[in-house]
Amino acid sequence: MPKLAQLFSREILDSRSNPTLETVAILDDGSFGMASVPSGSSTGAEESAEIRDNDPNRYFGKGVLKAVYNVNSEIKSALIGKDFDSPQTVDQALINLDGTSTKARLGANALLSVSMAVTKALAASYKVPLYKYIATVADNKDPLFIPTPVFNMINGGKHGAGNLDFQEFHVIPTRTGPFSTMLQTGVEIYQVIKKLLARRGAIHSVGDEGGFAPNLFTNLDALEILVESITECRKKPTIDVELGLDVAANSFYNNGKYSIKDRSQPMEAPEFIDYLRDLNNQYHLRLLEDPLFESDWKGWSSITAELGANTTIVGDDLLVTNKDKVTKAVAEKACTGIIIKPNQNGTVTESIAVVKQSRQAGWKINASHRSGETTDTFIADFAVGVGADYAKFGAPCRGERTVKYNRFLVIETELSSH
Ligand code: PEP
Ligand code: MG
Repeated sequence: MPKLAQLFSREILDSRSNPTLETVAILDDGSFGMASVPSGSSTGAEESAEIRDNDPNRYFGKGVLKAVYNVNSEIKSALIGKDFDSPQTVDQALINLDGTSTKARLGANALLSVSMAVTKALAASYKVPLYKYIATVADNKDPLFIPTPVFNMINGGKHGAGNLDFQEFHVIPTRTGPFSTMLQTGVEIYQVIKKLLARRGAIHSVGDEGGFAPNLFTNLDALEILVESITECRKKPTIDVELGLDVAANSFYNNGKYSIKDRSQPMEAPEFIDYLRDLNNQYHLRLLEDPLFESDWKGWSSITAELGANTTIVGDDLLVTNKDKVTKAVAEKACTGIIIKPNQNGTVTESIAVVKQSRQAGWKINASHRSGETTDTFIADFAVGVGADYAKFGAPCRGERTVKYNRFLVIETELSSH
């Protein structure tokens, strides 16, 4: 049984130039795993706790030296020399050591960096690719496949400097061919969107996730641009390529009302649901993520009752990759899909458990990056290993995003050669 021989963490930068942790785990047989932690900006209120230094003299308080110290001191002392035959045993040790329900004492960012690094080291020790090892850990015996990519082509809300309220405007190729073909389709549409935005005189610089961040008159204009771009690529909207939205409604919910530029007056939940229903009738969304404020459970149940038969209603801020939230959402029929973000949770195996729980409910699984990313490709292997239906890694642009889509290309080659 492999023992943990060395554990070391350091502070590095993420794609938004904010500090994050990179942690290295080495087993006594020499196997090695290195992992870095992403970070969100449009976060759910009940995500596990990311520890930052709050020292105004460093990185405006965003340093992570305390979390790094926690790995290099207390976590290291507790884990070094112990036998670890699976990520479950490591994660359970981390959970016990932290002792809080939100991982606030040692930091979910500290814990996840160790959980991912050790999982990678164990995969290396067992001499299997990470995605296969994760499939074993998840007890996923189904044939492995690459999830359908969800390309975030236009970035609004908290992720774009433009004026759109909705956070993510998705292009989702339908699954007719291999991932490499879906990627090509996404990239060609991406290039045409750029051209169309330039033609309209709209800004076509990119946002946090590599999608364009234009100023437009309405949120619907962004969907229109996606439809035009799909058509210009000689694809049929809703047949060859579908659309999706991460509304990220938390970001424009104020005093009980939803305020978006498409309407002159803020809307109460029933009116906003009517608006989303009309929009959905027009654009036939495949995925509709966070359509309502994260505490508006009644609204979530009613939008799922109205639209859930044809459109997957996806909980992100609503569920924060948390088993208790999933239990509540299943009971209240609040959604039909989930975003899985391991750093909302804090360990790899608890994230896998939430995938299983969601699948038992018949939900669709969408494994997701964060808006603040690194070049770590763990999430790509995770998505394949757990058998996610979808994966969203942003637009096919910016190194920290393309590295994950490129990892899918590698995995696809490996899967097709066996
Ligand atoms: C999201 O909301 O789905 C997202 C990826 O953004 P963030 O990482 O900022 O939560
Ligand atoms: Mg989201």
